[in-house]
Amino acid sequence: MSAAAPPPTHLRENPFELAQGQLRRVGETFAVDEDLIRILSLCKKGVEVSVPVQMDDGSVHAFTGYRVIHNMTRGPAKGGIRYHPAVTQDEVKALAMWMTWKCALMGLPFGGAKGGVICDPKTLSSGELERLTRRYTTEIINEIGPEKDIPAPDVGTDAQVMAWIFDTYSMNVGHSVLGVVTGKPLSIGGSVGRVGATARGSLYCIRTALQKQGKRLHDTRVAIQGFGNVGSNLAQLLAEEGVRVIAVSDSKGGVANPYGLDVPAAVAHKAEHGQLEGLPGSDSITNEELIEIDCDVLTPCALEQVITADNAPRIQASMICEGANGPTTPAADEILEDRNILVLPDVLANAGGVVVSYFEWVQGLQEYFWKEYEVNAKLNDIVVRAFEETWSTRERYATSMRTAAYGLAVQRVAEATTIRGLYP
Ligand code: NAD
Repeated sequence: MSAAAPPPTHLRENPFELAQGQLRRVGETFAVDEDLIRILSLCKKGVEVSVPVQMDDGSVHAFTGYRVIHNMTRGPAKGGIRYHPAVTQDEVKALAMWMTWKCALMGLPFGGAKGGVICDPKTLSSGELERLTRRYTTEIINEIGPEKDIPAPDVGTDAQVMAWIFDTYSMNVGHSVLGVVTGKPLSIGGSVGRVGATARGSLYCIRTALQKQGKRLHDTRVAIQGFGNVGSNLAQLLAEEGVRVIAVSDSKGGVANPYGLDVPAAVAHKAEHGQLEGLPGSDSITNEELIEIDCDVLTPCALEQVITADNAPRIQASMICEGANGPTTPAADEILEDRNILVLPDVLANAGGVVVSYFEWVQGLQEYFWKEYEVNAKLNDIVVRAFEETWSTRERYATSMRTAAYGLAVQRVAEATTIRGLYP
């Protein structure tokens, strides 16, 4: 039996310490009681599990998995599961905390959670991935459930992985439990509109922000880092709106064309070749070059900490829309603010996914399913309302969109904690 060796990490700083630092600063700005900030600085519960899996060649690998609940004061915890070779417990804790703020900002009756397994899903066969998922689900089965903690897809996981989680949980309890996981395939109780929901929420945020600035969507040039669920769907939605998508990238590198890429061709090229590089009518660029490219809106939609104090001074975009969670370090944030670059923070800009996950959970509990136009209209209502609340808080406190968004969210969780009272 062998355990996978840890690969090099993309994280330059400890994300959980960054998230705790953000919370402390928000507490000061919004004068939140220090006792409450101390409570919210820590995660309520976390498990680390061993996930032994028989590989196709007969050997056994022992993977490590995590599930962390940051907070469930406002309702069951909600958050994705990440399969990535460099995922760490502190990354999962930070992502769980950000989920608490995101759900509160959107006004959803959820707390925050996150999960992860240290593995490279690209190197696993479908059978290995299924066995890993079923064993991981079994190891965390006492933690999850429709009233406790509801997982969803994140980096490296998709609707098929959610289907295996749903099936494993349901087989264990003896009946189908639609509300145990979201991001499921439509054939087993998924919601229409869930796959593109995160990107659609980002689109609504970009459009509303441009309107505030007296600009129009179709005059805008956008660069997108990451071409998975969030990045590729956002590229397609923007292209449908007539936006020039001038650069896109994945983990292997990127492609650019200042006059606009053929987005459907990029999607087809990636599906055929497994990479974007080589797309006809484009030049190759690195992921580092993409961040600094001449564009109007930069949308990091891959991993954390890609916008740092090193590259923030050279960013040419006038707006950043955080499709990914935690792509901007606090040091970069300060530089961007000084340079008057508008940052639409992750808890607002990528919340479309959890909003439609909430819709999926509601539909699953009621066993009554909505039409796509209803899903998109309700998504628009929630995201635009949260945007407007964040924008006016930003103006009232003369602060950044991030501090405003976190401030609103933390105050809501703090208020719920106070009203419920400290147990026992
Ligand atoms: P995904 O696995 O579908 O796609 C990730 C993309 O990032 C892939 O194209 C991959 O090639 C690329 N990538 C990986 N490492 C990279 C690197 N070092 N440089 C550049 N690109 C790299 O994941 P996703 O679901 O699209 O999630 C992307 C981000 O969005 C994550 O931060 C995730 O937490 C966040 N997010 C996702 C959802 C969702 O509904 N899927 C919701 C909210 C937030």
